Amino acid sequence: MGFEQPELNNWLKKFPLLTQITNLEPVVWLNPNLKKMNHISILPVNKQDMEEAAELWDRFAPFLAQEFPETNDSKGIIESPLRKIPNMKNALNKKYMDKIKGELLLKCDNELPIAGSIKARGGVYEVLQFAEKLAIEAGLVTKEDDYSIFSSEQFKKLFHQYNVGVGSTGNLGLSIGIIGAKLGFRVSVYMSADAKQWKKDLLIRKGATVHEFIGDFSEAILAGRQQTTKERHGYFVDDENSRHLFLGYSVAAIRLQKQLEHEKIQVDAKHPLFVYLPCGVGGSPGGITFGLKQVFGDHVHCFFVEPTHSPAMLIGLLTGEKEKISVKDFDIDNRTEGDGLAVGRPSSFASSICEKLISGVYTIDDDDFFKMLVKLVDSEEIYLEPSAAAGLIGPVKIIHSDYAKENSLNMKKATHIVWATGGSLVPEKEMKEFYEQGKSLIETE
Ligand SMILES: *Cc1c(COP(=O)(O)O)cnc(C)c1O
Repeated sequence: MGFEQPELNNWLKKFPLLTQITNLEPVVWLNPNLKKMNHISILPVNKQDMEEAAELWDRFAPFLAQEFPETNDSKGIIESPLRKIPNMKNALNKKYMDKIKGELLLKCDNELPIAGSIKARGGVYEVLQFAEKLAIEAGLVTKEDDYSIFSSEQFKKLFHQYNVGVGSTGNLGLSIGIIGAKLGFRVSVYMSADAKQWKKDLLIRKGATVHEFIGDFSEAILAGRQQTTKERHGYFVDDENSRHLFLGYSVAAIRLQKQLEHEKIQVDAKHPLFVYLPCGVGGSPGGITFGLKQVFGDHVHCFFVEPTHSPAMLIGLLTGEKEKISVKDFDIDNRTEGDGLAVGRPSSFASSICEKLISGVYTIDDDDFFKMLVKLVDSEEIYLEPSAAAGLIGPVKIIHSDYAKENSLNMKKATHIVWATGGSLVPEKEMKEFYEQGKSLIETE
């Protein structure tokens, strides 16, 4: 399956860290191609694109508030709280010798309305922009109108002619399925067979059609893309190459800036901001990193985290081959319990941007997902799904690396934000199992 020995040897010789990566050892990789913002001339998206995406969200707020009562308080704005987690910081410092000096916060996308995960940003956005485009083309609406009109029968009738397809291990399918069905689209979700049963059940309850595929995520995406684009009225949400998903995620940065201002947290040369983001194909962490870089420039430092068994972005960026190389080429099995992270190759759209903007990638064993999940429950009573807990160990990993020294950063005044990417839709029974699994791992340490 993987590379022939001579080619493999060449890669290992060229990039010595690949030896540890192929041995499934946790690593910290600092990106040698990270660019200062004023040295980046063109990217496939710009700040204006992000601002336009924010405006689209605003136009749809009246519709969302009407259709999803849980967004009433926020007037239809899909946003999550930013919470200080001092007890978690103490717990980490107790275990890792007082390394974290600055403030530790959790960006609680696990609490995002509609989808209970970070996919409520990208997935919902992509379907909304498609719906808007169709409605404008049909002469049903203008951008100046009140978008609560999207709830009317006329719109549902229009959208019902269209089939929105998506390949997903779970959360993206959920977000597309829920918003798609609400607007009146027919939705087909192509899943790998190992996707969680409760996610499949929930999707079917919401009115989506679920197609299962043996094999991994890429194959589910491939099948979905082929099926959907064959249809005259098919629209495929392509997680491996989507500008819309990316822009939907990026708007989080504008919102986070306001939240930090509200908390009176400074971000500047003397007060660096560190952000830790779990990475699958790279769309969500990439979109958010892109947005944060527009807002905070070089003062924000974004690190991705991947499972040791699915280091897709890491291998793509380290080798420079991006979406052209897969973890399977190195005989890495791509098996992880981190839902959303079992990805063999990164998104081409996201990786081409991440290449210049991210500070690095670290990998962790699956066991650490569960241990971090337990630590957060015990210290803060916050429940995340395993993949969403991956960022919690980030500050320790980066403080142990040479990053701060190489970049002359004052870590005493740093703020650390861990992006919690999902969890609130996980059924109680499953959550209890995650917790118990983590507990038993901690006990046998
Ligand atoms: C999808 C997902 C991610 C990663 O997002 P990508 O866009 O695939 O990189 C991380 N955490 C959770 C819980 C997810 O569902």
